[in-house]
Amino acid sequence: MPFGYHGCYLRIDVSEGTSEYVPLSDTVLRQYLGGSGLGVKLLLDEGAAVMDPLAPEAPLVFAFSPLVGSPLTTSAKFAVVSKSPLTGRINDSLASSGFAIAAKRCGCDGIVIVGRAAELSVVVIDETDVRMEPATEYRGATCRETESGLKARLGANYRVASIGQAGEQLVRYATISHDGRHAGRGGSGAVLGSKNVKAIAVRGQHRAEWANPEELTTISISLSKRSFGPATAKYRELGTATNLLTFNRFGALPTRNFQSGTFEEAASLSPEQLSTTRSKTRESCVSCTIGCEHIYTLGSGSGVRVEYESLFALGSLCGVSDADAVLRASQRCDELGLDTISTGGTIAFAMECVERGWLNEPWLTFGSADALLRVIDLIGSRQGIGDLLADGSRRAAEAIGHHSIDFAPQVKGLEIPGYEPRALQTMALGFAVGARGADHNRSGAYEVDFSDKVDRRHVTLDAVRHAIDTEDKAALMDSMIICKFLRGVFEDFHAEAAEMLRSVTGWDVTADELRETAKRIVSAKRQFNLLAGWTPAEDTLPERFLSTPLPNDPEASLSRERLDSLVAEYHRQRGW
Ligand code: SF4
Repeated sequence: MPFGYHGCYLRIDVSEGTSEYVPLSDTVLRQYLGGSGLGVKLLLDEGAAVMDPLAPEAPLVFAFSPLVGSPLTTSAKFAVVSKSPLTGRINDSLASSGFAIAAKRCGCDGIVIVGRAAELSVVVIDETDVRMEPATEYRGATCRETESGLKARLGANYRVASIGQAGEQLVRYATISHDGRHAGRGGSGAVLGSKNVKAIAVRGQHRAEWANPEELTTISISLSKRSFGPATAKYRELGTATNLLTFNRFGALPTRNFQSGTFEEAASLSPEQLSTTRSKTRESCVSCTIGCEHIYTLGSGSGVRVEYESLFALGSLCGVSDADAVLRASQRCDELGLDTISTGGTIAFAMECVERGWLNEPWLTFGSADALLRVIDLIGSRQGIGDLLADGSRRAAEAIGHHSIDFAPQVKGLEIPGYEPRALQTMALGFAVGARGADHNRSGAYEVDFSDKVDRRHVTLDAVRHAIDTEDKAALMDSMIICKFLRGVFEDFHAEAAEMLRSVTGWDVTADELRETAKRIVSAKRQFNLLAGWTPAEDTLPERFLSTPLPNDPEASLSRERLDSLVAEYHRQRGW
C-alpha cells in the first residue's frame, strides 16, 4: 500500500446495517488517485451507470484523497460521487472541511453507501465501528440543526455530513451539507435521502503516513506562502463575488433566465455594495490559508455565506435586485439543502413560463423578492408548484410543453452556472461537453475566454485544445484533491502536483504521468455516461443560445453550426 492511503474503502449496506472494508489495489489508487477519479472508478465497478440513481441498490460514494490530512493548504476536501437523479449521468460534487479529515481517519480512502434504511437514520462511524441510529427526530430539520444536534448527542469530536428537508423530499438538486458548505450540484442529497439516511457522523484516529514528511513540510510551507500572494488576493478581499460587476460589464451576467447578459441593478448585488451596509466576517475551510468565504450578517445577527453563483442565480437570473432578499434566499437554500444554481435556474425558467402565459402561477414574476422566497420553500417541501420545480428545469419544461425546453437553462438536465455562453464561447463548449452537464467547476474554460488566447465572442477551433486543458486540469485537482482557487499560484502545475504526490505517496510519479491520469479520469466519466445511455445529441446547448444573439451585444452570437463544429473538434481531439 502506498503512503498517504489506507488501501481500502468502507462499504456500508444501510438496508442490512452491515459493513466491510474492501481492499483497493495500488494500481487503482495510482490510476485514479482519489476524489472524483476514485469515486467514478468505484461507481463503474458497482455497475451504477445502469441503475436508477434513487433505487436502494444505487451506490453513493464519499471519496477522499492522498492529500487529505496532510499539511498542504486547501487539501481538506472530499468528493461525493453518484449517478445524478437530475441528469441521469455521472455526478461528482466536492465539499470541504473537517468531515474529510475525520472520515479518512476511520481507516479508509472512501465510503460507499448502498441500500435503504427502514427508518430515517444516521450512519455513525466511530473509528472502524459502524452502526445505524434512528434520526426520526431530525425529520425536516435544517442541515445546521441536524449537525449541531448530532454533535450534542454523539460528541463534539464527531464530524457530520447531512441533508436538509430537500434531500428528504428527493428534490433532484438537493445537496449534502457539512459545516455550512455543500456538495452542491447534481442531487447527491436526494440520493442520500432515498436511502433514508439523514446524516453520516464520523470520528477516527487512523492517520495515514507520509512517504517523505520533511519534503512535504517544505512544499506545504512554500505553497501556503504563495497562497497569500496576488493570485488569490481578490478571493480574500471580496470572495467569489468579486467578478460580478466585471461579468456585467462584459455582458456575461445571466439575467432574467438568460434573456440578457446585463442586469441594470447589478451594483446592488455587488460585494462592494453589500459590504457598505452589512458587517462581514471571513472564514476558511479547515487547512486553508486563502479564506475565500465571506459571511454577511442578515437580520437579527444570523450570517449567510455569499458566493457569486448564489448572487447571480437568486439575483440577476430571477431579476431580483433586493440584496437582503437574495441573501435570505441563499440562506434558505442552505437550510433546506438546495443547490442555489439549480434552484435559481429552475425558478427563473418558471418565471419566464409565467410571463409567456404557459404556467398559471401569476405571483411568480421576475423581480419579485416575495415570490422568490415563497417558491424556495415550496420546492424544499415539494408543495404546490414546488413539486414540479423540484425536478429541475428540464423535467419542468417537458411537463409544461410549448417548446419551453428551448429556453430551459440546462445542459444534460443540470442548470447553467453564471457565465453567459454567448459572451463566453469557450465556456459554451465546456458547458456543452461537460460530463455532469453545464458546469464551471469541471471545465474552467471561462478563464480561456478572459485571456488573450481567444476572442471570447468569436471563438475558433483553436479554443478547443484550451478547453480540454482546463477540463483535464480540473479532473486532476478534483482527484488529488486541492482547491481550484490555488490554480493561479502554480508556475508549472503538473510538475508541482507530481512533487506533492511524490512526497505524500512515495510514487515516482511525473508531470507527464499526471497528464495521462487526468485524461483517464475524464474518459472514465465518459465511459460511465456511455453506459448510462449518453448520445452525441446531449453535447449541446438549449436553442435560445444558438438562435438569439444577446440583446445588448449582437456580436455575442453563437450559431448551432459553430457550436457543433467546436463539439466535433473536441470529440476528435479526445479521440472519442
Ligand atoms: S479557497 Fe475558499 S473554497 Fe478553497 S479551501 Fe480555501 S476557503 Fe475553502
